[in-house]
Amino acid sequence: MCGWMAQLLPAARRIVVKIGSSTLVDAASGALRQAWFESFAADVARLRARGQEVLLVSSGAIALGRAGLKLAAGPLKLDEAQAAAAVGQIALARAWSEGLAGHDIRVAQVLLTLSDTESRRRYLNARSTLMTLLGLGVVPVINENDTVATEEIRFGDNDRLAARVASMCDADCLVLLSDIDGLYSADPRLDATARFIPEVTALTPELEAAAAGAGELGSGGMKTKLMAARIAMDAGVHMVIANGATLAPLEAIERGARATWFVAPTTPTAARKKWIAGALAPAGALSIDTGAANALQSGKSLLPAGVTHVEGGFGRGDCVRVLNAEGDEIARGLVAYDAQEARLIQGKRSVEIAALLGHAGRAEIIHRGDLVLVRT
Ligand code: GLU
Repeated sequence: MCGWMAQLLPAARRIVVKIGSSTLVDAASGALRQAWFESFAADVARLRARGQEVLLVSSGAIALGRAGLKLAAGPLKLDEAQAAAAVGQIALARAWSEGLAGHDIRVAQVLLTLSDTESRRRYLNARSTLMTLLGLGVVPVINENDTVATEEIRFGDNDRLAARVASMCDADCLVLLSDIDGLYSADPRLDATARFIPEVTALTPELEAAAAGAGELGSGGMKTKLMAARIAMDAGVHMVIANGATLAPLEAIERGARATWFVAPTTPTAARKKWIAGALAPAGALSIDTGAANALQSGKSLLPAGVTHVEGGFGRGDCVRVLNAEGDEIARGLVAYDAQEARLIQGKRSVEIAALLGHAGRAEIIHRGDLVLVRT
């Protein structure tokens, strides 16, 4: 039994669930595991009905596609895997769309690559689309864009993709459903003395060594799961590894089924603010008037109207310093416009942005979620 940690799932506001190929697709027939799928759809509907936001990171495109294309068993060459993914992704998206439509839930297909989560411009775009979808009550179903992702620019495994998505969306909880019920001190199939580890609060070298010894099961073995845990914990996201094969696996986790919980030391907001405040080198500065400075102090976003001067040659999504009328740094944030655009819209009302830039833009030059006040 997992005790209090099982409560982290019902307590979470926003949850990312990663479903591994072996959980979703029957390896022998290449078909969707229908009974499991239906139980999981009901599980997701239960969370949504409680008011929780859910994002799914679903593998299975290659597994579904290779069966459809009748490709031989065994490892596929990269281009074959990409072709299989291109075929299988359609079936995968349809399955999710139809499966959740039965619960009156609309889904959206989102295909990402590593660079969409690494380059800050694309990161902001992807984040904003996901947030909009969640706001509209939609369940995003995310996978790697396998067709365009070549060796160097791909995640290759959805464990890390799911952790990046969780971090990007400030999720509170990441669930990795796979063919193993958690982390062991050694490979339980080879070592009878292997100990189950129910709770991890820090990723130590001993744990990493244990994971290396625990073998690679599927495309995302323990190693990628620990890499995902590092991304999640750094972002303030609790993560749980649980056996996906169980019917209604989320309910099973809540009931205290055997699982390994990685308990994050901080909250997503705190982790994100720390990242903005400390980890990024500022690429420029915005000077603002006193009215805007007061608005920031009371937790509001920075609007172009309050900006009096733009300094530097930053790009969209870069970190910039925010200076008050005295020139003191009062905040830092990720800027939604590049320096050239910022100069065009500074001092202007948000409704004028489209006319000034020739395209619609965001009302805020720095959204409050991307802004951290600097103690002076
Ligand atoms: N993107 C791959 C697929 O949909 C899965 C990668 C993984 O399972 O980690 O088949």
